[in-house]
Amino acid sequence: MALLKPHFRFRRITDIEVDFLKKKNIDLLLLDVDNTLSTHHGTVLLDGLTDWLEKIQSAGIRVIILSNSKRCRVEPFATGIGLDYVSMGLKPLPFGYLKAIRRLGGTRRNSAIIGDQLFTDSLGGHIVGIKSIILEPIERESMFSFKIRRYFEDKLYKMYKF
Ligand SMILES: [Mg+2]
Repeated sequence: MALLKPHFRFRRITDIEVDFLKKKNIDLLLLDVDNTLSTHHGTVLLDGLTDWLEKIQSAGIRVIILSNSKRCRVEPFATGIGLDYVSMGLKPLPFGYLKAIRRLGGTRRNSAIIGDQLFTDSLGGHIVGIKSIILEPIERESMFSFKIRRYFEDKLYKMYKF
């Protein structure tokens, strides 16, 4: 269960301040897409995302997208906000995380994954040995498989007292 526990939890990505990341020595962020930057399979950017990205990047923090979705979903999204990306990331397996960190020339020690799921984003972060910042999903998914996952996540959050 400890392998699923995120290091930090925020409501929205835009709630994460530069000062917080600096204090935690985080200078590279891997960003999930669905329910992190947009709704699940949505194309509309989260409110305030562009401003947030600009603030983060001008503070010298590097950013790359790491998503389990296919390239056809991730590429237009990444291009739209001017970010590099790794699609079909196979989170929670370590390969995508390592590829993204290597691509930007970062270190695991100073990297963090930002996403909305304990069973992919957070678990993978632990496996790779980087910090995880988990958000509340922007909008709950209607698919049954997600309902089950979210049910267990809610139980875990209660247990973690997050
Ligand atoms: Mg997601």
